[in-house]
Formats: sequence, C-alpha cells, structure tokens
Amino acid sequence: MKLSDRLSKHYVLGELIRSETAERKGIDNMPPEAYIPRLARLCEKILEPVYAHYGIPFSPNSGYRSPELNAAIGGSPNSQHCKAEAVDIEIPGISNYELAVWVRDHLEYDQLILECYRQGEPNSGWVHVSLKQEGEQNRKQVKTYANRQYYHGLLS
Ligand SMILES: [Zn+2]
Repeated sequence: MKLSDRLSKHYVLGELIRSETAERKGIDNMPPEAYIPRLARLCEKILEPVYAHYGIPFSPNSGYRSPELNAAIGGSPNSQHCKAEAVDIEIPGISNYELAVWVRDHLEYDQLILECYRQGEPNSGWVHVSLKQEGEQNRKQVKTYANRQYYHGLLS
C-alpha cells in the first residue's frame, strides 16, 4: 500500500492516516490491509458527501490511528479510530456546530460527536463521525463532548 493509493474520488490513503504526532515521534501509522475497505467507506459515506455539499477542500484527521499512535495522543483504548471506523473533520470557515447538524440530518453514521466546541467560536473543536463496517449495525448516537463530559445531542 502506498500513501498515494486512492480511496475515493477526492481522497487518498495518505490523507486519512496522516498525523503530525506520528511523524514527530516516528510512529508507523500504516493500517492493516484489511482496514482499507473501512477507510474507503468513510470516504464514500462521509467525506465525499460533506465535500460535495460544502464545496470547500478540507483535511480529515485520524481516519486511522495505530494502537501506538492512539496511546501516544492519549486516545481511548476502544477508540473507533483504531479500527478505521471514525474520522475527525473540520471545514475552513464553517462552524463545527453547523457541520455537525448537517451530518446529523443528512448522513448515515454510528456516532456523531461535536467535540470541544465553544459557543461563539465557530472554528473551535471538531466533528467526530464514526461508521460501522459494512454489514454491522450503526447506533445512530449524537453527542456533544465539552468540559470533559458527554452530553446527549448537539449543544451549541
Ligand atoms: Zn474522533
């Protein structure tokens, strides 16, 4: 597998697995080959529809995190990022709250979490979207993570 391998029309593997922390610490963040279809699914079902709607290029984060990278950044051991089932997104110039509302109302997802968003600061935080592998049931959960707590629904 190469970083330039295409996963969907607008996204290549390198964009889904790039990590500053991995680069800085020399951590290998190449996913197992079996996870490639999951990453392609995140592209087709989440990233491409978001891009088609807003028409603004953006760089997704953490489409995959190796266990070593996940530990290095203090991620939950059960993180769906480690299974290539979740991606974090932000779009330049778009409020993360607005983005989360759009995803909630238009896309299929397992968990949608508006993370670390602060009212009055449209660019604060990011939107975490997970999607179960093909054939598995999505939980359709919507949450906001703020002040180190999870809340039900999207809180602006
Ligand atoms: Zn996330």
